[in-house]
Amino acid sequence: MKPPFSKLLIANRGEIACRIIATARRLGVKTVAVFSDADARALHVELADEAVRIGPAPATDSYLDANAIIAAAKRTGAEAIHPGYGFLSENPEFVEAVEAAGLVFVGPSADSIRAMGLKDAAKRLMEKAGVPVVPGYHGEAQEVVVLAAKANEIGYPVLIKARAGGGGKGMRKVDDQRAFKDALGAAKREAKSAFGDDRVLVEKYVATPRHIEVQVFGDSHGNVVHLFERDCSLQRRHQKVIEEAPAPGMTDDVRAAMTEAAVKAAQAINYSGAGTIEFIADGSGPLRSDGFWFMEMNTRLQVEHPVTEAITGQDLVEWQLRVAAGETLPLSQGDIAISGHAFEARLYAEDPANGFLPATGTLHHLAFDQNARNDAGVRSGDAITPFYDPMIAKVITHGETRDEALSKLGTALRGTHVAGTVTNAAFLATLASHEGFARGEVDTGLIDRENSALIVSEPLTEAAIALAAVTALELDPAARFAGWRLWGDASHPVRFMHGGEELKRRLLLPGDGSVVLEGGAETVRLRGIVREGTKVSARTGATGAMIEANIAVWRGIEGTEISILMDGVAHDLLMPDPLAVAAHHGDLGDAILAPMTGIVRAVTAREGVAVDKGDKLVVLEAMKMETSLTAPRAGLVAEIFCAEGETVDGGAVLLRFEETGS
Ligand code: ADP
Ligand code: ADP
Ligand code: MG
Repeated sequence: MKPPFSKLLIANRGEIACRIIATARRLGVKTVAVFSDADARALHVELADEAVRIGPAPATDSYLDANAIIAAAKRTGAEAIHPGYGFLSENPEFVEAVEAAGLVFVGPSADSIRAMGLKDAAKRLMEKAGVPVVPGYHGEAQEVVVLAAKANEIGYPVLIKARAGGGGKGMRKVDDQRAFKDALGAAKREAKSAFGDDRVLVEKYVATPRHIEVQVFGDSHGNVVHLFERDCSLQRRHQKVIEEAPAPGMTDDVRAAMTEAAVKAAQAINYSGAGTIEFIADGSGPLRSDGFWFMEMNTRLQVEHPVTEAITGQDLVEWQLRVAAGETLPLSQGDIAISGHAFEARLYAEDPANGFLPATGTLHHLAFDQNARNDAGVRSGDAITPFYDPMIAKVITHGETRDEALSKLGTALRGTHVAGTVTNAAFLATLASHEGFARGEVDTGLIDRENSALIVSEPLTEAAIALAAVTALELDPAARFAGWRLWGDASHPVRFMHGGEELKRRLLLPGDGSVVLEGGAETVRLRGIVREGTKVSARTGATGAMIEANIAVWRGIEGTEISILMDGVAHDLLMPDPLAVAAHHGDLGDAILAPMTGIVRAVTAREGVAVDKGDKLVVLEAMKMETSLTAPRAGLVAEIFCAEGETVDGGAVLLRFEETGS
């Protein structure tokens, strides 16, 4: 088949940019990546045929800079622009600018986006089109008294929603009349600062809500089809965590009613391209044909589109490109069928034990379960920076049955090893084995209710510490035993830092091929240690039970860093090295460290050039601020380890400094 375009520019980053490039390549479409300074060496830049820098790290100066992106497309001769999701994907002015420049926007028309852009107007439109909408007030009035009266009419609990909202922001559930005014104020303030629009709508809060959405697709010839539903009820703070397709408990009747409503919604706005109609369903009992209501439409490819691809066997990015090129839809409704069941889990650099605080860091090691589809935008060695969404990857599994797909999801998550930052992998794995979830009893409150049970704090076992020690010290009991035998049975002290605590142990090599770790809560003996890459196994205990772990080891600024993934939980250990610390803190020759993860804006120092105390050496941009790193005293710049535009981790050595004359 003829490629839909000769060259495509992808106006996005991360996993979705990589995802789009993969399909474009398969179709014979040349690709152009765009990147900010923070992403100069990012995976999407490497995968694309060409790449264009569009500005500094902050998204407003790069991935949201419509002019820079369109100029990059013109300059490289791209015919079309794929916006991915987020950023400019639902911006009608961008669509118009792209089209005015003689380029094709891979997505719906500016008018379709406008029609669905504001939740209140979209609901009024859908009501007219005969689509059931969430009961509530979505008119123009914004006076407190009017809205409070509407809330009384609707009946509590109600949900106040920013009409321009997205990503779960600008929303407040209100349980009774007395709390209404304050909640309204809070919602309006949040909406104003996040979306620059403080207008709200008031909805009936659906009890035991389930989020079920329908994937729709239109072409420029007036055809619209659906590709069934996805259930995205597992949410945190109104944000999706695990999605699946089809929805558990879905019946033919309800599916027919829901997909028919979704197609009607798309037809009402002459929709072309990929879109999602989000419904809220009453999950207090079995799904009903009169128990779901339109919430909003997302006029773009959705983050969770892979579960639909898995159950239909279709490539939705290919569909988008073909439709954008003017082709008719690849399949008609009757030719689209569901096969099996699929799940997607969103893997984030965030700390569940610490209120899901977003994290940054260098991914010193990144390994996925090869039986799953892992859509990632990063590879080993890449950094999660503070500038963008901290999503690391999406883990997607497919099975003939829901049980099979869910069990594969759990296995895949437990086998996902991310070293160098904290992630929600263990949280997701625990969620994947939650009994209610396994029975298909999902609603948007499940995660909140079960939160404490889902946040695992698996203790680090002595066996795991022993495996980590053997690996980090590169002990090979078979080959290097002689050296260790010099100590005979004497124990060798080993010291770790773990979660701010010092662990002091003694390691023994009795000479029979085993390794013994003493000094902890129990003494462990490992036998038959086998290492294959990062996989390390051994037998332990009286029964000789097999234990297995994935262990990544790297040199950090304070010593040897170890990340050990065992039984689906990753633990970090540090073997402090006083020499390493000294080298980095100036005892052996001063080093200038990055105080936090950021981007090198300027390197004013020159190798071999003497500086005075206070002279500017490097300018670092982090957290939207520029910091000048200056010479702590007079000296000579011996070596520079960073370059302008580079992303550096907090703690990274930027340059080394010597005393003059030394
Ligand atoms: P979806 O509606 O597609 O399931 P969500 O509602 O969970 O997605 O929201 C994901 C949101 O993340 C996007 O709507 C967007 O606002 C934001 N986002 C924007 N750009 C990116 C990106 N490159 N990577 C991850 N998230 C992004
Ligand atoms: P966003 O644009 O932020 O995605 P949505 O309108 O799609 O906003 O709502 C986000 C989430 O909030 C939904 O997925 C659902 O979990 C919850 N929600 C929205 N409306 C209601 C409602 N009327 N009753 C209960 N929960 C709701
Ligand atoms: Mg939504």
